Amino acid sequence: MIETDVLIVGCGPAGLTAAIGLAREGVRVIAITKYAQLAPTARAHCTNQRSFEIFRDFGIEPQAMASATPYTEMPNFTYLRSLSSDVEFARLRGLQLDDEDNLNASPCTIADLPQNLLEPILLTAATQQGAQVRFQTELTTFDQNETGVTAVVRDLLTGQDLTIRARYLIGADGGNSSVAKALELPFDGPGRLGGSLSIHFDCDLSEYTAYRPSHIFYILRSSTDRGGPGLGLLICFRPWNTWQFIKGYTAGQETPHLTTTEAVDVIRDYLGIPEIEPKVTSIGKWDLNSLCASLYQRGRVFCMGDAVHRHVPSNGLGSNCAMQDAYNLAWKLALVLRDHAGAGLLESYSQERVPVGQQYVARATKSMQLHRPLLEAIGLADPNRPEGDGDLARIAANSTDGAARRRGIQETMHAKIHEVRARGLELNHLYQSVAVIDEGQQPKDTGRDLELYARATTCPGAHLPHAWVQRSGHEVSTLDLVGQGRFTLLTGIGGDEWIGAAKAVAERFVLDIAAVKIGPGCEVTDLHHEWAERREIAENGCLLVRPDAHIAWRRMSTDTDPEGALTDAVARILDRQA
Ligand SMILES: Cc1cc2nc3c(=O)[nH]c(=O)nc-3n(C[C@H](O)[C@H](O)[C@H](O)COP(=O)(O)OP(=O)(O)OC[C@H]3O[C@@H](n4cnc5c(N)ncnc54)[C@H](O)[C@@H]3O)c2cc1C
Repeated sequence: MIETDVLIVGCGPAGLTAAIGLAREGVRVIAITKYAQLAPTARAHCTNQRSFEIFRDFGIEPQAMASATPYTEMPNFTYLRSLSSDVEFARLRGLQLDDEDNLNASPCTIADLPQNLLEPILLTAATQQGAQVRFQTELTTFDQNETGVTAVVRDLLTGQDLTIRARYLIGADGGNSSVAKALELPFDGPGRLGGSLSIHFDCDLSEYTAYRPSHIFYILRSSTDRGGPGLGLLICFRPWNTWQFIKGYTAGQETPHLTTTEAVDVIRDYLGIPEIEPKVTSIGKWDLNSLCASLYQRGRVFCMGDAVHRHVPSNGLGSNCAMQDAYNLAWKLALVLRDHAGAGLLESYSQERVPVGQQYVARATKSMQLHRPLLEAIGLADPNRPEGDGDLARIAANSTDGAARRRGIQETMHAKIHEVRARGLELNHLYQSVAVIDEGQQPKDTGRDLELYARATTCPGAHLPHAWVQRSGHEVSTLDLVGQGRFTLLTGIGGDEWIGAAKAVAERFVLDIAAVKIGPGCEVTDLHHEWAERREIAENGCLLVRPDAHIAWRRMSTDTDPEGALTDAVARILDRQA
């Protein structure tokens, strides 16, 4: 029997992120995948600021950025009849990378990082940290008791079964998760909405695309087109040569199995360019789902990623959410395995991540449902629509009908901003759990749409606001002061008692707590005064920041008994005796 601390089933974005987060804390990790290789095609690609912050904490942000395409090269989303046609209905600007909100929200930027380029970076980091990764190894059964989990895995090369005894098991085994099934996790949502066909291909389309640089070209089809009204998505991975074409099918339709010749035919038809010679690199089918589990843990077994939240690709949330689940759980498991925290801390994983999963599933489903109103406003779903340039003529008509169509398009595109610029959705999570002591504190109302705009607050449960500060003369983010698998106490001028308390509490609990004072003459300075604007606490107050950069506890100013207050807070958060 092989023994380990954590067995991770799955080497997608969730499993590999968990492997890095655990292995770097010295936890013994075995990660298995039933396949002989990592994701062979792009799949997920929009990689958001929170995910890049995780890469930054892991020290792999430079590698990730080097493999990514910046969205400045393909900033728009374009809605048109075909690539060859001049008829364009709308353009939507994506996230404005240089706008002030974006720059203030994070030291990192979003970028397009296809899954087949990301996973090798994660795998390298995981193995460098000491995780053992086994390909062609499939979980067949598992059973748990009070002390651990016994799993039987099959080596698909030899057909031999191996027994692995782990203290914990993570099911990061994707949308058909056998772990979630075996745990009988409760799922909510309508389930399968339909199917989807993906064709990856290489072709120089610069003549049709470079002058209107877009990340996604939405090709709108009419009632008289082959296949009827609907949408085809042309997604650019490398301007303007590497592409993915996606076509969705409703639950009642069967997603076809295409040969390469048929796939080329579909691409030519949708793009409206019969003479192109696309080189098809892969054809795949996958399900469009709308489902989220309301519990991610049973006993010593946890699930994450697509295993527990399954949604359509709109908003590009799938792999981001998967990695962020893993980052949330890894530090907690590491502390519990080292006896630095009680098992009660692990309950916070479901409490914190289920609401995020539910919010993402709801948002992605809603975004996808906006396609139909757009087709209707233009008139493409109308069986009696005019041929040729008639669609444009109807939209351009100086008539009540024309005005209604123009208004309909404008309103739909306005709603679609929530699909392409939902920075707040990605950044504003406010955790409420046993690992956060909020004492009824709530963030101030910003008066802004919290799905669209990031909110900087130090309210317990929130993510630490980013501010540029200086350490040894170098510009760093406040996020660079925290993380690295440890707790951090942040204070300012007048906060010496908090620094002393952090040292005492660290010794008492045998815990790594970094203590950082920010202000003039301190080890970290705030020359731009960005931290002063965002910290909300007084200079002599303090923030206790968790290893995942979420704020666990705060004191607005000094306390009569700083050591006692901090001791109580840490004991509560870590499920330990004060
Ligand atoms: C064809 C396709 C296209 C997609 N396109 C997009 C997109 O455009 N945008 C987007 O945001 N998302 C897209 N997704 C979804 C995105 O890829 C997922 O959200 C993301 O991969 C989730 O990561 P994960 O780690 O949870 O699971 P996965 O990446 O699915 O990884 C699952 C892992 O579990 C392993 N596994 C499963 N069962 C077992 C077992 N019994 N034993 C051992 N190992 C097992 C697999 O080998 C794999 O390593 C797409 C998915 C697919 C399949």
